Amino acid sequence: DANAVDSPYDLEGKGKVGCVENDNIGYFTKNKLHVWCRLSNGVWGSGTIQSTSGEESVVTLSNGNVVKVSTRELLPANPGILEGENDLIQLSYLNEPSLLHNLKHRYSQDMIYSKAGPVLIAVNPFKDVQIYEKDFVTSYRQKAKDSPHVFAIADNAYKEMMNDGVNQSIIISGESGAGKTETAKFAMQYLAALGRGNGGKECEFLQTHRILEAFGNAKTSRNDNSSRFGKLTEIHFTALGKISGAKIQTFLLEKSRVVQLTAGERSYHIFYQLCAGAPPTLRERLNLKTANEYNYLVQSECLVINGVDDAQKFQKLKEALDIVQICKEEQEQAFAMLAAVLWLGNISFQVIDKENHVEASADEALTSAARLMGCAPDELMQAISTHRIQAGRDRICKRMTLQQAIDTRDALAKFIYASLFDWLVEQINKSLEGGKKDNGRSISILDIYGFESFKKNSFEQLCVNYANERLQQHFIRHLLKLEQEEYEFDGIDWTKVNFEDNQECLDLFEKKPLGLLSLLDEESNLPNSTDFTLANKLRQQLNSNSHFRGDRGRAFGVRHFAGEVLYDTNCFLDKNRDALNPEVVQLLSSCNGQLPQLFAKKMLNQSLEPANCYFNCDPKQTVGAKFKGHLFKLMHQLENTRPHFICCLKPNSKQLPGTFEEDLVLQQLRCYGILDILRVSRSGYPTRMTHQAFAERYGFLLLETNVSQDPLSISVALLKQFNVLPQMYQIGYAKLFLRTGQISALEDRRKQVL
Ligand code: ADP
Ligand code: MG
Repeated sequence: DANAVDSPYDLEGKGKVGCVENDNIGYFTKNKLHVWCRLSNGVWGSGTIQSTSGEESVVTLSNGNVVKVSTRELLPANPGILEGENDLIQLSYLNEPSLLHNLKHRYSQDMIYSKAGPVLIAVNPFKDVQIYEKDFVTSYRQKAKDSPHVFAIADNAYKEMMNDGVNQSIIISGESGAGKTETAKFAMQYLAALGRGNGGKECEFLQTHRILEAFGNAKTSRNDNSSRFGKLTEIHFTALGKISGAKIQTFLLEKSRVVQLTAGERSYHIFYQLCAGAPPTLRERLNLKTANEYNYLVQSECLVINGVDDAQKFQKLKEALDIVQICKEEQEQAFAMLAAVLWLGNISFQVIDKENHVEASADEALTSAARLMGCAPDELMQAISTHRIQAGRDRICKRMTLQQAIDTRDALAKFIYASLFDWLVEQINKSLEGGKKDNGRSISILDIYGFESFKKNSFEQLCVNYANERLQQHFIRHLLKLEQEEYEFDGIDWTKVNFEDNQECLDLFEKKPLGLLSLLDEESNLPNSTDFTLANKLRQQLNSNSHFRGDRGRAFGVRHFAGEVLYDTNCFLDKNRDALNPEVVQLLSSCNGQLPQLFAKKMLNQSLEPANCYFNCDPKQTVGAKFKGHLFKLMHQLENTRPHFICCLKPNSKQLPGTFEEDLVLQQLRCYGILDILRVSRSGYPTRMTHQAFAERYGFLLLETNVSQDPLSISVALLKQFNVLPQMYQIGYAKLFLRTGQISALEDRRKQVL
């Protein structure tokens, strides 16, 4: 029996865990085991059992205290020799306190990376750890180091791409502030070093972080440099493994941040950088003030970030813009758009009649915004304070109410900013374009916003969390489902591990016509709908889905894989429609600035672009529908790559070094199902090859000559020659399955001989 329990990898197989849980008493007392017990304050303490009577055990804790605890709640602890293991899979006992203890122990020694089987776990150090210098790149490249590291993951991806000719992806997940973006940057830094060619594209694409971070990151309550957009960076390589170009795709920039801030948070970095760092001549041309003079920025009473010099960042940003070949003239146009957005926020309205109708005040804000956009102040005033309505045969001009005018002004500011961001990404892509050849290979790195659950959750959180459900499914499918299906398909001996799938939660979002997104669209298309009618409709139609929970008033809850989130439908419809006053589009297209014209043209011509037809993405679609289309396209792209997963964990919520909060980490480990993944991979066979491929790759190493020449016989003979123990492999109908680490002896020998 190849699954024999005496294999070192099966010290504590699934079955035995069950036995420990059900029959603690006999097991522990016999062995005087080292155990974990939950103490009255909720934390796990380690100790040894002194005695057991009835249901209770007396445990001496490692600090000398003696406690009485329920025997049923004891969990076995690992022998000291396993303390700080590189790969959690090596632990004899897989249980939550053991995983936590191991990660904590490693963290205390600045070992922030660990493996959980095939997944790399990265615990945010919140300080500089000296493990990313050049010599580290070199040692991972030469395989002189094999401790877990983002470099090792990147190296593997690169190697597999080169050896097998398969496109790869590195998928980074984690909560906000867990370290996804930094990890992605280190992965790219490593790949840039490996793929250094003559073109210098690799330097160029490292500079793009600076630009995208300035325009797409902001200080939030969780992270001083939080990315407010998702990003897929596809790095292209030549057949020889040199970087030939790159392409960046972005997802759902949080536009509302431009006009509305939560106390203590900031808008996008670039605004503060521009205000602090623009040289006098530029200030004059843009009529630029300091940040505290702009309404959009002062509202949250947070203008600076500790330890960050915005003025200096502005200089660096300009250098980066030069490197990606955005010329000075275009740079200035982009800065003018930023200044226009800031001035728009200062435009005020005067109520001029009893019905609360308004006109914009003709002051510095109005004239500055108009001048920067390239239109007359009157035209701007008209566009943001009136709308035309059809009255019989005529179109008449009607004044807006105060709230309508403010919303229109803010919508214009958001539109300009989001268009500017898209334009920048386009310019960057043009400069990075290496002419991807059809036979070229690629590694894609996904850094997308993590799961979000705040006190108040709106439409943005719904989209973000929906994306995370999709990614979680990809993660589960690859690590648990496909893995197990493959074993079954190939007929090998295998005990199935059960795990939670999130398909039903995805159905809640995606089902037509009765899913969250379709119902939201339906309601968005009705003329008299409100936040309340929407909430009612959801309650009526979705109550049968166990992941949905109707709440009172405007609220509803969704049970996500990472926990339940309560959403407030306030503004859902507006945010989903994302409508822009036609007068405003008209105004932009008649501006004499190049960028406003371009933005308006894009908006009007979207329907002509073939890219938008992909996956039926109609430009008149709502934000939700577009996002879903975009997400499907992303998943489709990822499905065609071999994935590598990195899970970033946040050790505390205060962004502090050296502080490891067990409960917070445990919650994250649970949320990603790390324990299930470990159980599957420990009893699994990560290396698999067809008999044919195995025989072809290693057959020439065979010493024994009297072997029948079919692939299966050659494979079996090779395994015997290399002393691969029977419990270390299984032979399926078509494939050979090997446990972790078993292939290395053959690979090493092969390298020596070749
Ligand atoms: P996320 O993208 O998951 O929201 P970030 O990557 O922006 O999180 O990380 C948040 C902060 O944590 C960073 O600004 C940095 O200060 C710190 N950090 C993250 N990863 C590392 C690391 N590997 N080394 C040092 N500091 C890190
Ligand atoms: Mg980020």
